[in-house]
Amino acid sequence: MKIKNLVFRSFLLLFLLLTSTYGFAQSKIVRVLVCKSNTLTISSQGPVIVKAGNKILKREKRLEEIVLKRKSNFIKLGRGRYKTLDFISKGFPISVNDKAYSGNIRMSVRQKQLFAVNYVDIESYLKSVVPSEMFSTWPIEALKAQAVVARTYALYRRAGPSKEYDLCSGVKSQMYKGVDSETSRTNMAVYLTEKMCLYDNRKPVPTYFHSTCGGHTINADSVWGKALDSIEGVDCKFCKDSPHYKWKKSIGRKKLGKILSKKWYELGKIKKIMIVKDKPYRIFIEDKYGKSQVLDMSKFRFLVGSEIIRSNNFKVKVGWFRVKFKGNGWGHCVGLCQWGAHGMALKGYSYKQILQHYYPNLDLKRMF
Ligand SMILES: [Zn+2]
Repeated sequence: MKIKNLVFRSFLLLFLLLTSTYGFAQSKIVRVLVCKSNTLTISSQGPVIVKAGNKILKREKRLEEIVLKRKSNFIKLGRGRYKTLDFISKGFPISVNDKAYSGNIRMSVRQKQLFAVNYVDIESYLKSVVPSEMFSTWPIEALKAQAVVARTYALYRRAGPSKEYDLCSGVKSQMYKGVDSETSRTNMAVYLTEKMCLYDNRKPVPTYFHSTCGGHTINADSVWGKALDSIEGVDCKFCKDSPHYKWKKSIGRKKLGKILSKKWYELGKIKKIMIVKDKPYRIFIEDKYGKSQVLDMSKFRFLVGSEIIRSNNFKVKVGWFRVKFKGNGWGHCVGLCQWGAHGMALKGYSYKQILQHYYPNLDLKRMF
């Protein structure tokens, strides 16, 4: 009897060991900076363990709202001062400044501010990213393509040089608004593509995406000049329904000179502008006094503002009074065209065909 019991226990132990090791190896955690500020609040409707290093400070069945303040290089909590604080969830979301997130939260002081970093399983992270980056009412195959692209991008950033976090929660990385943004359709898209990623020879790639290309996507190295030859421009005839398919804007010649001068590119009334199709694309710009400047196109677009120059697909002409921009699309126009994915899905293409179209050099594989 005893031996039988021992054998059973050994099997149970082995099973637990294997499943926990397996689970650990399979789960990919991403670290998302969700908030930085001098004061912030944290709370949860469920049980939370609060730790400072290895020391457990509190075990709460429900975490009532706590106010955390920065005091020089420390976090002030009650009478204590700590370098880092970990808030470990037991399955319930934790709210930082009233926004609820899956996973755990680590607080620390960086750059004279409190940093709240969310340690979250990549699949849970995506459940918030997909509806924040694409309309959840769009066809499921477009949502699935978005899920794969967002997963691959997160994985690429995770493999980058380890700092305190892998991604931020805004447009600089991918929009991440927490559990309240989740919808059943986008959760389904994440679930149906679970662990699927795009690779270039086993390396995850920064699978950039944008709203609308307006007819043709752009090589990544034309925009950023980095060695990203695996993401090259393709024709797209699927985004014609986008409200941003074509655009026209203009700005006063003197005003454009003033805007650039304010940003350290000293120029008077503009006389000439040319696009130089180098890697990356550059803008040559000259004023009426013969003074000239050369800027990367993406920097030029950023300085002038997206309200005037909506995408990297544009032509420019200096008119009698104004500088005239005529272009296609919205965004940087590299990688997945979201309105194109929408159009392809409506025509019956699968998410695999959509990804194959926009990333012809990449392979779709299960994450390893
Ligand atoms: Zn397109």
